[in-house]
Amino acid sequence: RSWAESDIPQIILDVIAKIGYKEPSPIQRQAIPIGLQNRDIIGIAETGSGKTAAFVIPMLTFISKLPPFTDDNRHLGPHALILAPTRELAQQIEAETRKFAGPLGFRCVSIVGGRAMEEQQFNLREGAEIIIATPGRLKDVIERHVIVLSQCRYIVMDEADRMVHLGFEADLLFILDKLPSGALEGEESNVQENAMDVDGEDGGAKNKGRSRVTTLFSATMPPAVERLARKYLKRPATITI
Ligand code: AMP
Repeated sequence: RSWAESDIPQIILDVIAKIGYKEPSPIQRQAIPIGLQNRDIIGIAETGSGKTAAFVIPMLTFISKLPPFTDDNRHLGPHALILAPTRELAQQIEAETRKFAGPLGFRCVSIVGGRAMEEQQFNLREGAEIIIATPGRLKDVIERHVIVLSQCRYIVMDEADRMVHLGFEADLLFILDKLPSGALEGEESNVQENAMDVDGEDGGAKNKGRSRVTTLFSATMPPAVERLARKYLKRPATITI
């Protein structure tokens, strides 16, 4: 299957063509169609497989359908959050995400240790649709009220097993508990929709109006990662590369 045969919106297909990715990698071929149905995903995959674009393309498709930032809602925080274990990985993800997000007019800010808090604070005030963060630093800026996550609708946990191995499980629970779980203010509740069986072929249609999508990538599935998945993902599709 080529890019054009997928359900990726034309504006994003144009960006992919400009970046020069000729065809989707195996994980992209598997994960993007499911991601575009707004299903939660557990992806068992290693770095270097093209995993970043596999989650960034559905994420950008999702947030491009949300009402754009205005002066009234910019301060309510980002629309999407990507969590990664280390500053280095967060920066790699940021670079890859920017290739797609930049041409679409979405801004990315990374919140990682070792960079001035003031700079990150300034970037956040300007309004960023996408945050790429390490769990420790993000918890810190939430506690200092530098950031709120009250309109964050798309969450990606990358290398979840490494985050757990580095001792971030408690920070992840803290952050994930800050996210809106149901419909946001002014929106219809999605409780009923979440109660429906989304397994099977027509799962996608039932997921169309979901108000929150959570995706988790991990090379292995230790018990702590299973616990996270069970607590925060709804009827996830599992993809193994
Ligand atoms: P990742 O696994 O996301 O770290 O990606 C590994 C590398 O593959 C990155 O340098 C990407 O820019 C590149 N890449 C991702 N998807 C594709 C693709 N479909 N075609 C060519 N290169 C790609």
